[in-house]
Amino acid sequence: MTARIFPRLLSAFILIIGMQLAAEIPASWTTPVPPFRIAGNLYYVGSQDLAAYLIVTPQGNILINSNLQSSPPQIKKSIEALGFKYSDTKILLISHGHYDHCAGSDEIRRETGAKYEVMAQDVPVVESGGHNDFNYASDKTFSFPATKVDHILHDGDTVSLGGTTLTAHLTAGHTRGTTTWTLDEKENGRTLHVVIVGSPNVNPGYKLVNNKAYPQIAADYRHEFEVLNKLPCDIFLGAHGAYFDLLSKHDRLKNGDKNAFIDPAGYKAYIADREQAFENELKKQSAPKR
Ligand SMILES: [Zn+2]
Repeated sequence: MTARIFPRLLSAFILIIGMQLAAEIPASWTTPVPPFRIAGNLYYVGSQDLAAYLIVTPQGNILINSNLQSSPPQIKKSIEALGFKYSDTKILLISHGHYDHCAGSDEIRRETGAKYEVMAQDVPVVESGGHNDFNYASDKTFSFPATKVDHILHDGDTVSLGGTTLTAHLTAGHTRGTTTWTLDEKENGRTLHVVIVGSPNVNPGYKLVNNKAYPQIAADYRHEFEVLNKLPCDIFLGAHGAYFDLLSKHDRLKNGDKNAFIDPAGYKAYIADREQAFENELKKQSAPKR
């Protein structure tokens, strides 16, 4: 009896452990942060590390990033805690087509009726639920609900609503359609250039050399750094809070430092650091194998 049950229990146990490993996500991705105003009509509505931004206009609101499949209730709660209506979300944008930034899009699009606008090169990934990803096509952890795109964006396109205009900069490499968003905010009579970095990171396992699924990946990263190095930046933001040290800046803001998110030097240092990391990885992968 025991001899028969034991292998079954063991395989069930292994299955559960395996599922937990596959579903392992950092607590910082789901731990909420009280929503707050960053500058002008720009608000933070994400979690500790998965950033989501709300731009509030008289004609409705723009949401950047829908995050995990489990994130929409957190984002909705944050929007409502600020006194805004979730149903006023008219346009939904993303940083790039990975499940930690776009898995909630299908739900948010259906619930709010927002128009989903995505950079052309990420559209096949988003509409296939991750199955067209150049690196993670067969990785179930990276799959997410396939979501219909309502409007296809191209490099340099603008998205305007109620007097606010965002510009979509194609900064590919991390995904083929990684998008860095820029906009200007007015704060105390001063114009502040906001940059929301899409991702400059080379993930573990990314092939930068002889990548059959994405032959121009290294050239795309180089182009991305060229673009990011040129963008004027006062307020430095990004797809993950860790890029721009969200939590400590938020603490400073709470303690009365109204300029906590103004960090042009931090932006430059971060981009330089990520560019060096990319160049180092490219060099390592280009070295002749012995
Ligand atoms: Zn990513």
